[in-house]
Amino acid sequence: MVDLDVVVVGAGFSGIYAVHAFRSAGLTVKAFEAGDGIGGTWFWNSYPGARCDVESKDYSYSFSPALEQEWSWSERYPAQPEILRYLNHVADKFDLWPLIQLNTRVTGASWDADAAAWTVTTSDGASVTARYFVSAAGCLSEFNVPNLPGLDSFEGPWYHTSRWPKEGVDFTGKRVGLVGTGSTGIQVAPEIAAVADHLYVFQRTANFAVPNRNRPWLESEETEFKSRYREYREEARQSFLGVPVTGTGRPVLAEPPEDVQRLFTQRWQAGGGMPFLGAYTDLLVSQEANDVVAEFMRDRIRETVDDPEVAELLCPRGYPVGAKRLCQSDDYYAMYNRPNVSLVDIRSAPIESVYPGGVKTTTDSYDLDALVFATGFDALTGALFAMDIRGAGGVPLRTAWETGASAYLGVSTAGFPNLFMITGPGSPAVFSNVVLSIEQHVEWVRDCIVWLRAQGRTTIEPTSAAQDEWMAHVSDVANATLFPKADSWYVGANIPGKPRVFTSYVGGCGPYRAKCDEVAAAGYAGFALDGLT
Ligand SMILES: Cc1cc2nc3c(=O)[nH]c(=O)nc-3n(C[C@H](O)[C@H](O)[C@H](O)COP(=O)(O)OP(=O)(O)OC[C@H]3O[C@@H](n4cnc5c(N)ncnc54)[C@H](O)[C@@H]3O)c2cc1C
Repeated sequence: MVDLDVVVVGAGFSGIYAVHAFRSAGLTVKAFEAGDGIGGTWFWNSYPGARCDVESKDYSYSFSPALEQEWSWSERYPAQPEILRYLNHVADKFDLWPLIQLNTRVTGASWDADAAAWTVTTSDGASVTARYFVSAAGCLSEFNVPNLPGLDSFEGPWYHTSRWPKEGVDFTGKRVGLVGTGSTGIQVAPEIAAVADHLYVFQRTANFAVPNRNRPWLESEETEFKSRYREYREEARQSFLGVPVTGTGRPVLAEPPEDVQRLFTQRWQAGGGMPFLGAYTDLLVSQEANDVVAEFMRDRIRETVDDPEVAELLCPRGYPVGAKRLCQSDDYYAMYNRPNVSLVDIRSAPIESVYPGGVKTTTDSYDLDALVFATGFDALTGALFAMDIRGAGGVPLRTAWETGASAYLGVSTAGFPNLFMITGPGSPAVFSNVVLSIEQHVEWVRDCIVWLRAQGRTTIEPTSAAQDEWMAHVSDVANATLFPKADSWYVGANIPGKPRVFTSYVGGCGPYRAKCDEVAAAGYAGFALDGLT
């Protein structure tokens, strides 16, 4: 006898929907969440300036038309507290609290072949058995602090943006060092600069950022998108990025340069990253085409930042636009015109150590009262490896993926029966509107479990052949684009020692969904059922 049909790890967008979907399908389910609240990303990342960069009308659940109609987003890109309120509202509305155990970390899960079940152990010393083990632990949840010599000796406080104190931090009158200039660094920097005595931004890699043009939704806009939400969501499901984007359908290299400038300028004025990169068909596949958009963006930096030397240092080079997550901010570049902000180039003079009163680079010392790390995550695999997951024969997941993560359709992996991952490696998750990808994964896994039950089957596991074929396809599709060409967290380059593998599916959300549906319709082609292929 197993205790539960399904154990879910995590209660962010994925885990919250998973418990609802599984219970609604008649399954017994329980989620364990390490935090003392739900919300995942939007619970932990409460740093000032945190907000989504996919519009709220897209970055929200689509599974309930009633929810969609009753909830009103205040802005195009709402800030973290509002998204967290939304997720708590969802838990209230669908009565999900009894299914979620907070303050409990899943420490391990091992497959028991005789019982055809997972034994899941938790930080409170308890264990529970379940037929299926579903990781909704997040693709960006295991945070990363760089290993800087002397950090322990630092006398001031230091913070990682993903573990921001709930009571907030007052930087008024402080000299603050910020390490990291990705999506988060770009969001938090202007907020700190507004109050700090001085902000030193330590930049290793300059990133491309487009404006948000964030603003409240007009009542007329909300009425319009709510009046055709069903139709709109369907367009999103079939789209490339999980957000309907209208492009010209033509390559930029075939367009008259003045038309290109006009369109880019229009999209720059309108704000948002996806419409910008979706403007032409070749921007993410041809370096020459990408150079056109890169130069347009560098020109915008030069016209915004007063000091030409600082502007040049802020101009990203050496990798294609979009190959690192495209950042969004309305005030990041202009922030460098403030007298209390300095940009420190740690590409040419890296940080050597931290001393009790500040940070030392190979050329200078910076006296600081506080340090902020916006240094991101051990993406995709970090949260999975943080659990001791052991599959058939007791093989650790870490060992199975020693040379790089490998998963069939991004949801399951050979040697680990009845294990499912929401937004796992090999899926389009981090290259999409993630909420849409989450819903698709959860629904696919739910339908799979329900189907197995109806068929009287107990176990499911991908064959190595199907998995290898899928990962080869993932790789072929990626290699036909510019995506793998940057040292980014997409390839694990931010984590020392991590295998450099590009494991995200960049063939588009719509085609990916079609493939998943085709596999299901064929009786879960590529999977072994009850150990039989
Ligand atoms: C600052 C920031 C901004 C972002 N903005 C966007 C955006 O605009 N658009 C977009 O599409 N995506 C964005 N993302 C990606 C975002 O992570 C996803 O959109 C989405 O919120 C992920 O939800 P999730 O539930 O899968 O994972 P998470 O939200 O990461 O939740 C996972 C949960 O699992 C818990 N957990 C992990 N391991 C364990 C364990 N062993 N035991 C128990 N609990 C565990 C964690 O505590 C966490 O609460 C952003 C990410 C960050 C960090």
